[in-house]
Amino acid sequence: MSVLRRDPTSGRWVIFGNPPPPVRTPGDPCPFCEGHESMTPPEVFAIGPVGRKPDTPDWTVRVVPNARPLLRIEGALERHADLIYDTTSGTGAHEIVIETPQHHRSLTALPPAQVALVLRGWAERIRDLKRDARFRSIFVFKNQGALAGAWLPDHTHSQVMALPVMPKALKEILDTARAHYRVKERCVFCDLLREELEYGERIVRLSDRFVALTPYAARYPYEFWILPREHGADFETGTAADFGDLAEMLLATLARLEDILPEPAYNLFLYSSPNRDQRRGYWTTLAQDFHWYIAVMPRVTQVAGFEVGSGLQANAVLPEDAARMLRSATALRGGEEA
Ligand SMILES: [Zn+2]
Ligand SMILES: [Zn+2]
Repeated sequence: MSVLRRDPTSGRWVIFGNPPPPVRTPGDPCPFCEGHESMTPPEVFAIGPVGRKPDTPDWTVRVVPNARPLLRIEGALERHADLIYDTTSGTGAHEIVIETPQHHRSLTALPPAQVALVLRGWAERIRDLKRDARFRSIFVFKNQGALAGAWLPDHTHSQVMALPVMPKALKEILDTARAHYRVKERCVFCDLLREELEYGERIVRLSDRFVALTPYAARYPYEFWILPREHGADFETGTAADFGDLAEMLLATLARLEDILPEPAYNLFLYSSPNRDQRRGYWTTLAQDFHWYIAVMPRVTQVAGFEVGSGLQANAVLPEDAARMLRSATALRGGEEA
């Protein structure tokens, strides 16, 4: 059983008891491929035809618990004080979203309709995990490439984590958004979108429902965000039309990133609302003040000592230059120009 500890000097939580990565030798069968369902823990969700039996072939998206999870769903949540410290049992969920039954290494190998199903899978899992009162925050993320920390089979997948705590990075974003709202009575992300759309220099791509842009103070070279144009705090309330549009937007922008950086390593992170039921009265304006978004953070260089110690990152590519390159790169796939 893992355990979470909170550092009282920074407010940062750390998970202890991480399992070592599994040793896989080249040539081992891939547990994520269709037909190998018995090689994973029993599935928790799948998209497939009506009447399909769990853990059998004929699925399009399949979600299974991580066989070597950082957190486990079983067991009561225990919180206690330990001297001046806070500790919490490693109760949570750690799931793998297998994004296709075929052995593709990258999301960009998939057609938009398949990626839309992956997004629906994320939404279904978030909805389900939010019903569990033990969890305060739920994350969806994707590690592409070894530099981004991918160590599971190189069969394209994303991960879902439900945590019994609110990580500092998310809390800082939520606190900042709430502070802006208290002063201006407006969502900081809606304000940012309005300005960026007028200014235009950091806009990468536009659709009816979404905007891809490079953030003003991007931490990573070619980092981009995708935000819904209409205000919303909860990713999981998206419609099939939303996910269809978002899938095209994500694929088109990732395809342009691949033109600039061949086989890019990146972390994709979905920042969406935490579980509001957990602390009634605490996130009262969250629906108005927070705006969900996806951040794609390419990993071009290793994080250096100064950045580790100071939390202040250095980025060699100005976001305006990154946006221009992401706009003009000749995408091999992904359709029309933004
Ligand atoms: Zn595979
Ligand atoms: Zn907003």
